[in-house]
Amino acid sequence: MIERTTLEPPPTDEQEHWHGRAVAEVVACLHTDPRRGLTVEEAARRLAQHGPNRLPSPARRSAWVRFLLQFHNVLIYMMLASAVVAGLLSHWIDAAVLFAAVAVNAVIGFLQEGKAEEALDAIRNLLSLRTTAIRQGERIQIAAKDLVQGDLVTLASGDKIPADLRVVSAKSLFVNEAILTGESAVVEKSPAAVPIEAPLGDRRCLLYSGTLVSSGQGTGIVVATASRTELGRISVMLEDVQEMTTPLVRQMAAFSRWLAAAIGLIAVSTFFTGVLWRGHSADDMFMMVVALAASSIPEGLPAIMTITLALGVRRMATRNAIVRRLPAVETLGSVTVICSDKTGTLTKNEMTVQSILTGKLTFDVSGAGYVPEGGLHLDGAVVSPGAHPEIAELARAGVLCNDASLRHVNGTWQVEGDPTEGALCTLAVKVGLDLLGERENRPRVDAIPFESEHRFMATLNHDHEGNRFIYLKGAPERLFGMCTTYRAGSLEIPMDRALWDERVQATAGRGMRTLAIALKRVSATQLDLRFEDVDGGCTLLGLLGIIDPPREEATAAVADCASAGIRVKMITGDHAETARAIGARLGIGQDKPAMTGSQIEQLDDEQLRLAVSDLDVFARTSPAHKLRLVGALQASGQIVAMTGDGVNDAPALKRADVGVAMGLKGTDAAKEVADVVLADDNFATISGAVREGRGIYDSIRKFILFMLPTNGGEALVVTAAILFEWTLPLTAAQVLWINMVTSSTLGLALAFEPPESDVMERPPRDPQAPLLSWFFVWRLAMVSALMMTGALGLFLWELDRGAGIERARTIAVSAVVMAEMWYLLNSRYILRPVFSREGLFGNSYVWMVIGACALLQLAYVHTAPLQAVFHSTDLSLAEWVRVLVVGLFVFTIAETEKAIIRRVSRQQAPPQAARSGTASFPSQREHHR
Ligand code: ATP
Repeated sequence: MIERTTLEPPPTDEQEHWHGRAVAEVVACLHTDPRRGLTVEEAARRLAQHGPNRLPSPARRSAWVRFLLQFHNVLIYMMLASAVVAGLLSHWIDAAVLFAAVAVNAVIGFLQEGKAEEALDAIRNLLSLRTTAIRQGERIQIAAKDLVQGDLVTLASGDKIPADLRVVSAKSLFVNEAILTGESAVVEKSPAAVPIEAPLGDRRCLLYSGTLVSSGQGTGIVVATASRTELGRISVMLEDVQEMTTPLVRQMAAFSRWLAAAIGLIAVSTFFTGVLWRGHSADDMFMMVVALAASSIPEGLPAIMTITLALGVRRMATRNAIVRRLPAVETLGSVTVICSDKTGTLTKNEMTVQSILTGKLTFDVSGAGYVPEGGLHLDGAVVSPGAHPEIAELARAGVLCNDASLRHVNGTWQVEGDPTEGALCTLAVKVGLDLLGERENRPRVDAIPFESEHRFMATLNHDHEGNRFIYLKGAPERLFGMCTTYRAGSLEIPMDRALWDERVQATAGRGMRTLAIALKRVSATQLDLRFEDVDGGCTLLGLLGIIDPPREEATAAVADCASAGIRVKMITGDHAETARAIGARLGIGQDKPAMTGSQIEQLDDEQLRLAVSDLDVFARTSPAHKLRLVGALQASGQIVAMTGDGVNDAPALKRADVGVAMGLKGTDAAKEVADVVLADDNFATISGAVREGRGIYDSIRKFILFMLPTNGGEALVVTAAILFEWTLPLTAAQVLWINMVTSSTLGLALAFEPPESDVMERPPRDPQAPLLSWFFVWRLAMVSALMMTGALGLFLWELDRGAGIERARTIAVSAVVMAEMWYLLNSRYILRPVFSREGLFGNSYVWMVIGACALLQLAYVHTAPLQAVFHSTDLSLAEWVRVLVVGLFVFTIAETEKAIIRRVSRQQAPPQAARSGTASFPSQREHHR
């Protein structure tokens, strides 16, 4: 290859026609090795020379545009129009304050949006693609962005192709290229070169970045990276861009538009009534109407809802639940059923072979984990593996039909690859085999990889004496059907299915995974391995019992879900008995049998619907069964979260209300369609995510309940004054001051509200329940009325006692702000009392914002510049005490109202009705809050 300068990009397919060249030619051109890949140094050099394998980020809206967009909102237009008219009428201060209020709102919105975007960017980075490359002959996991031209990459079903690759080897390698070609049918790939003029869709020997392996295995050499790939050239972005919205946020946005229209209408009619009917001057009336509009517009609402969501989503990410689609946050709160995989999610996925069943005997294996220390025991006595050659033969088969490796790194034994296969490597060392030696003595010629659909793996190997063997391992029922004999010592006995089924049943009943191992001799001329080759004529070497202990935290999480009214169902590919035994340990489906995939197939949809509401453990299922199970659960009105990892789980994940993919063992295909990705594959993380989801939804509701009465209270004060022809207790500028200090400081604290301690003791939220329930409307009206009574009452009282208008207004403004500060404490819980350590001090932001708000209000009352702008006056201590009394008045009545609702709902609903979610009184679901 010609040396290229640093600036010169590597060639693309269009220039080099990689698809028209033989593999050897591509290898030579790219100075690589089709078996060992690049050296680490060469890869680093190429990375430095050509840059990372990453598409340029989509052009972001510039900061200026983002700032200007903050003004693009009908509520803001109304405020700006009022400001202009106020200016034209020479009300300079009002005009300036209106402009300032709009500007403050825009700055807050701008900063919050920035934070929200940062939070979502961080999440996107967590999901960045990883891939398996071969460098210096070693398989290593690297970030896809570190791939360089010439790298050798291995692929398996479910992988997303990380760069453009020239196929080197392929085994039933089918790829979905819909993202590039729009064609949803999968395409088979193979190493043979194609004519240079072949169109993109027919270049069978090229794999395109961003497409998905739907089945099979293969290896390929990277021929193009980053924007030189086909995908890069048509500039399709790989990352999903998260929309910063959810149904609730949209509902609120629609609500504020509706509100704006209503406010506009009321303002206009008030103006004309005042001018034409009551004979006020247009100038005076205009300023009243502006005060009315300014007081009722909740301009800060959408921005704070977004930040609450983004903060919540970031908090979830730090707890390993990565939300890919924001609406899932809300759905999580309504989930009634979680369908979970077993292996790795409910269990640790740390496999250890504990039992070996050969034709004649049952051995126990000592030792735990992957440490190859321990030995064989027979009826409690130690036995030497040498005395039982059938053990070595079985262990050898387990190592050859195996893609995992066992390594001693930094003092610990680690498995690279599938844990089930890792356990077989450990077993082989325990019985005295040398892993590398065995693999060199009998190299692999071909293989049928493990897929959960067919539940076995087979390899074709040869020794150096001209013999060829097929080694098989897999689910016992699957392998038994292929075996005509079984090995007993040196004898081969005709297969006795009943005997072996019984042995499987007994092993699985102890909660162990069962794996059968078999062998078939084939002719020395056989070059490849197909399904027909293993259809019969195999010899069963034995059965392994593998333990995979349940995760300790999963038991607690299952119990948590039960108290939260969420049923946990285990859907696994494992044996029914193993699943039932593990389920019983975790508290899932106790005392009930497990239903198997074949039983599911015999049921029609209606029968399945009935069965799923009764049973909790489903075993030997395939992805197609998962899809039917989700459908059946949804048909009976459940809101389903479903976990999955394989490429074929994608339809079930898509269909579920919340699709949850595994971050560690999950395929890219599953992650791509999931709503949530679990970084640690742990079931406890799902229940944690439900807790957070419920908490976030609560925070938003609390925020709305906090925010709207502020506007409601102010609007009532102004309306009452207009109606009764009193002097306005609050001028437009003063109303805006209140909105600024309360929404920019106080409200923000609720975005940091942690989920309440009893959030998992309530039934799931009814997704149909409207946001503005009667309870919400009542609470809104009540608090608005309280604020009005307090502020207006004090204002009129002060006027009555002879206070000047400016003093009385200063008191009224301070009273509203004080009431807001106290009401913030009420708002921490929707129905629970706040008189507790947790209630008063559980969120330190609450006290920080109350402090900030108090300082601002002190400045408003006691500093000359603000006095000049807002016509405020200094207040005496006695006046401050009266202001404080108004705050306490609102606080006390709001707490009393909660207590009354709690009592009424307790009397109306027995607790179990509330638990099961069948309660009818609307506020029952609010009961615990
Ligand atoms: P879950 O769906 O809970 O993750 P699982 O991992 O136990 O379940 P599968 O991976 O589909 O389910 O495995 C099903 C069965 O296939 C196992 O019980 C085992 O007998 C067999 N099996 C698992 N892994 C392998 C493998 N690497 N090679 C051959 N057979 C395997």
